[in-house]
Amino acid sequence: MATRTPIFEGSAIDDELGGSFRGELLAPTSPGYDTARRIWNGAIDRHPACIARCTGVADVVEAVRFARDHDLEIAVRGGGHNVAGTAVCDDGVVIDLSAMRAVWVDPAGRTGWVQSGALWADVDHETQAYGLATTGGIVGHTGVAGLTLGGGIGFLMRKHGLTVDNLLAAEVVTAEGSIVRASADEHTDLFWALRGGGGNFGVVTSFRFALHPVGPTVMAGPVFWAADDTADLLRFYRDFAADAPDELGSVVRLGTVPPLAGIPEELHWRPAIAVACCYAGAVEDGERAVRELRRFGAPLVDLLAPSPYVAFQGGLDDTVLHGWHYYWKATNLLGLSDDAIAVIADHAYAASSPRSYAAMFHMGGAVARVRHDATAYGARGVAHTMSIDAVWLPDESREHAAAETAWARRFLEALQPHGAGVYVNFLDSDDDHRRVREAYGDQIYRRLAEVKAEYDPGNVFHHNKNIQPG
Ligand SMILES: Cc1cc2nc3c(=O)[nH]c(=O)nc-3n(C[C@H](O)[C@H](O)[C@H](O)COP(=O)(O)OP(=O)(O)OC[C@H]3O[C@@H](n4cnc5c(N)ncnc54)[C@H](O)[C@@H]3O)c2cc1C
Repeated sequence: MATRTPIFEGSAIDDELGGSFRGELLAPTSPGYDTARRIWNGAIDRHPACIARCTGVADVVEAVRFARDHDLEIAVRGGGHNVAGTAVCDDGVVIDLSAMRAVWVDPAGRTGWVQSGALWADVDHETQAYGLATTGGIVGHTGVAGLTLGGGIGFLMRKHGLTVDNLLAAEVVTAEGSIVRASADEHTDLFWALRGGGGNFGVVTSFRFALHPVGPTVMAGPVFWAADDTADLLRFYRDFAADAPDELGSVVRLGTVPPLAGIPEELHWRPAIAVACCYAGAVEDGERAVRELRRFGAPLVDLLAPSPYVAFQGGLDDTVLHGWHYYWKATNLLGLSDDAIAVIADHAYAASSPRSYAAMFHMGGAVARVRHDATAYGARGVAHTMSIDAVWLPDESREHAAAETAWARRFLEALQPHGAGVYVNFLDSDDDHRRVREAYGDQIYRRLAEVKAEYDPGNVFHHNKNIQPG
């Protein structure tokens, strides 16, 4: 139970909001408050004055008005996955969307509406019932809202574009408490900004996505090699990835072999490099596309096989559990030069925790074919997007935590000469405003600041990777 003095007793919040708010209101004295204020990153320990768990758009409007009337900080929680912990704040109101997880599919029109508290596992589950999918994250328990608003990278992006390239419309509650629809025809400046500019412009209550035929069986899975093979494998992978068809999405994971089903126990936690692939097309074509990769060297274990897309998308879920402590550093890479590969091979296995890892997403394909300023996503031209993810357990010592975070910082510092901007969704809480600007570049940042000035001139929504009103 929290020991801080509540700003509002539950009953006082009920008095003000109770009549119009249909969801759950949690004050520090409420049962369930301590669970509700927790997010994926267990290192984040904040105590909001009130958690407003909304059931629908009307609740979101009330919560925004309530917070503004009382001059309270607002944090918006979608899936609660952002490593920086911006989904919760101290002393303010958390607009918690976790009870709004519905997904409706229109199979004839190949589109879907998704409520903004949904996770990617919810979207994959519902859309795959119709043999459809859209580009989402590579871990099923990541939130749709935050991921989409930052851009959205994943296995399907080289064939079908970023998540924002598939965004057709969004419904938004603005700082004024108005409900607006943004699309190619309505509030077009807002629509542009929502496609990469993060949670700066209002609370999105639902998203409409384009869907594509995918699977339901796809050629997908990881292949693991011993860490000693890293430099040779990355040199091979550089060319393999450059020549890959758009259908082939891949992510390199450098760390250890996780203790997943199908992996022999003697390999668990052994330092290793993995390339996880998903082919968004016919299984036989996928088999051909990954053949050379599987033949490289002597894999420790090869799990590439025809798999249900939904199962593949959930395959990494248990490697990044809720409540563990996390700290990330990130950079994009224009290419994989021999020097960059040497840095990666030198640093990737120097963490002390077997749970720490680095992940490198292969970009290009459909992502790079969209005009640079067509959306607010700032890094379409890069070859790879990398995040260096320090992980430790809640009961591990401060010294251990310090060693892991120092590893991530050292790794990033060594990679900086090869870096080319950063993905805004991979920034952590100690990444300053300069890095937010770096994620967008000056031109896109300036335009975002103008849209911010129009929709949120008072910077009500600032508990995020903040765009300051221009
Ligand atoms: C394990 C893991 C795997 C990941 N994999 C990928 C990946 O494959 N691809 C990728 O692109 N990213 C990935 N990410 C990064 C991910 O995109 C961000 O963490 C993202 O913020 C998660 O969205 P969320 O809704 O869960 O975030 P939350 O923590 O709930 O929200 C983060 C911020 O987003 C904004 N926000 C959230 N919901 C709304 C809303 N409804 N309206 C307005 N603003 C809102 C707010 O500013 C909030 O502070 C991953 C993250 C994790 C932890």
